Parts: sequence; structure tokens; C-alpha cells
Amino acid sequence: LAAADSGGVASYHPVLDQQSLRRLQLGTEIEQAMADGQISVVFQPIIDAQTSDIVSVETLVRWAHPRYGSIPPDDFIHLAEQIGRIGAVTDHVLDLALARCRRWLDQDIALSVAVNLSVHCLTEPDLLSRVRSALQRHGVPGELLTLELTEGSVVDDSVRDSTVLADLHDLGLRLSMDDFGTGYSSLSQLRQLPIDEVKIDKSFVLGMSTSQGESFIARSIIELAHNLGLRVVAEGVEDEMTRNLLAEMGCDKLQGFLVSRPLPDDRLENWLLARTG
Ligand code: C2E
Ligand code: CA
Ligand code: CA
Ligand code: CA
Repeated sequence: LAAADSGGVASYHPVLDQQSLRRLQLGTEIEQAMADGQISVVFQPIIDAQTSDIVSVETLVRWAHPRYGSIPPDDFIHLAEQIGRIGAVTDHVLDLALARCRRWLDQDIALSVAVNLSVHCLTEPDLLSRVRSALQRHGVPGELLTLELTEGSVVDDSVRDSTVLADLHDLGLRLSMDDFGTGYSSLSQLRQLPIDEVKIDKSFVLGMSTSQGESFIARSIIELAHNLGLRVVAEGVEDEMTRNLLAEMGCDKLQGFLVSRPLPDDRLENWLLARTG
């Protein structure tokens, strides 16, 4: 602690450095930001790998902060988890996703929506009733909702020992294992869980056009997943070569900048119109 005394920067007492201050402040603002409409969602299309038909959209949260500008989810989801607000954020995102889905249903379009669920949510005792009532409130059948869970969350002890995944599945919705290949679970572990689909993590998909190793991993995941009766989505598809490789490998669905960036509601509407004519 001599550094401070000797006139150096007081780097031993970073009690409230710039970053912590901002985080603290952001935490207190989350609730109001949702009420003010600063926290919204964008939708990224997911297409059938063989037919290119749009089959689903993934809902991704966005925070347009009046002073800090656009804050990416990787910068505030974790914060929301730490301060116990992730449940509220999830409810907000689910609400926007199901409202969107409902408006499609009113136009006779049965497009499913996917929502990301943090592991913290899976341990909240009222999750099931909140999801059920959100579906009811919007009049959306469970089959049109997919919950994306990260690999780490399903191997979490408290999740495995509970019936939460089975209970969610019983609502008729689909469970998708996100970021597959980055965690420690194996596909054989998945067999014991009510999972319908795996998403090959974009870190593998992004490397496919340049690395045989990544292609091999993708091919292996697809084959094993299919043998276990699971559908496979590849995320992070950015180029034609990767798209063709994945289609050849029998990958079921594709998502990535090649198909479309995540889009705000009105732009998604235009994208759909332009595509379906
Ligand atoms: P994720 O669930 O793996 O979502 C995919 C991320 O990859 C998104 O980043 C998306 O914009 C990006 N992406 C999509 N296509 C491509 C591509 O072709 N190339 C590349 N390089 N990236 C692509 P985003 O929107 O910044 O979200 C980051 C993460 O934040 C998500 O990763 C998810 O874990 C988390 N997240 C986002 N929304 C929510 C939410 O509502 N709730 C929770 N709990 N987590 C969320
Ligand atoms: Ca996801
Ligand atoms: Ca992912
Ligand atoms: Ca991710």
C-alpha cells in the first residue's frame, strides 16, 4: 500500500473505479429502463437448411441507453443475474417475443420464437408458472416457443436434480441446447434430458470455411445429435461455403449474418415480405 503514499496511482484501492461505478449505476437503472422501453428486442431469422424457408426467430435483448448508447447483452445480462433482476428481464423479453408471435398467428403465420434462458432462471421456483401464464396471456401454444439453455445450465446440479426441464417440456414447448460444444456436457448426457435440439456454437461454425478441424467437429455433432433424435441448428453462418457444407452434412437449420442480422420488429416484417413475396 506504499504506492499510494509515494505519489503513484492509488491502484490498490480501486473501490469505485470507473467501470464498477457504471455497473452499479446500470444495475439500479434496469427496472426503469424496461418501463421506459429502452430495453427491447431484435429478432434473428432461422431458416430450414434444405428449403431455406424461415422456420423460427431468435429473440435477442438490446438496451439503448440514453447516455451510454447501445449496451450489448453480454454487458448487462450477467449484471442482471448478479443483482437478481434476470427474472424480470426474462419476463420482459418473453412478453415481447410472445406478443410478436401472437401478431403472426393473427395473420395465420405459425412462426416459432426462441428466447434465451439464463441458468439463474431455471432455479427460480416460479419459472414454470410465469412461462405458463405468459403463454396463456398471449394465447400462444407452447409448441411455438423454444427456450434456449446454455450447456452449462443443464449440467448444473440443482437443475439436474429438479424437474424444471421436464415440467417446461410438459408445457409443450421446445428446449434447445445453446452454444453446444463449448461446455462440458456430452451428447450422451443429453439423452437423459428432455432436450429437442442442439445449436452448434458459432465458434465452430465461424471456422468451418477455413479449418477442416472445425468442419469435422460440426459433422460429428450433427451425426451424433441425429442418432439421439435431436435436431441441429448451426449459428454464426456467415458465408456460402459454410452454408453449403452444413446443408450437405444434414444440418437441420441455419442462423447467421449470411441469412440475416438480428432485426428490429419493423425491419423483420419487411425482410419477411421481401422473402415470401
Ligand atoms: P447467443 O444466444 O449465442 O446468441 C447469438 C449471438 O450471436 C447474438 O449476439 C447474435 O447477434 C450473434 N450472431 C448471430 N449471427 C451471427 C454471425 O453470423 N456471426 C457472428 N459473429 N455473430 C452472430 P448478441 O445479440 O450480442 O447476444 C449475445 C449473447 O447474449 C447471446 O448469445 C445470449 O447468450 C445472451 N442473450 C441475448 N439476449 C438474451 C436474453 O434475452 N436473455 C438472456 N438470458 N441472454 C441473452
Ligand atoms: Ca441463443
Ligand atoms: Ca449460441
Ligand atoms: Ca453465446
